[in-house]
Amino acid sequence: MTLKEQGWYHTPAHRRWRKLVLQRDKICQHCKRKPATEAHHIKPLEEYPDLALDLDNGQGLCWDCPELTKQKKQVKLPKGIRVIKA
Ligand SMILES: [Zn+2]
Repeated sequence: MTLKEQGWYHTPAHRRWRKLVLQRDKICQHCKRKPATEAHHIKPLEEYPDLALDLDNGQGLCWDCPELTKQKKQVKLPKGIRVIKA
C-alpha cells in the first residue's frame, strides 16, 4: 500500500506543505512558463517518507510537465511492507 492509498494527500499536514510549496514556486519549476498547480516531491515520497513535509524536497510544477507524469505512475511497494510515519 502506498502513502497515497493511505490517504496521505488528504491530510492537513500535506495540504499545508503543498500550499507553502506553491506559494514559494509560483511558476512551474520545470518549464518555467506555466503556473505551478501541483506540489511535487523531488525525492519520491515512497522512498523518503521522512522528507514528505520538507519544503526543500518540494517543487511546484504544472500539470503538463513530464516529471509529474512520472510521479503519477508511482511504483508500489511490495505487499507486506508498510511505511512507518516518523
Ligand atoms: Zn511545466
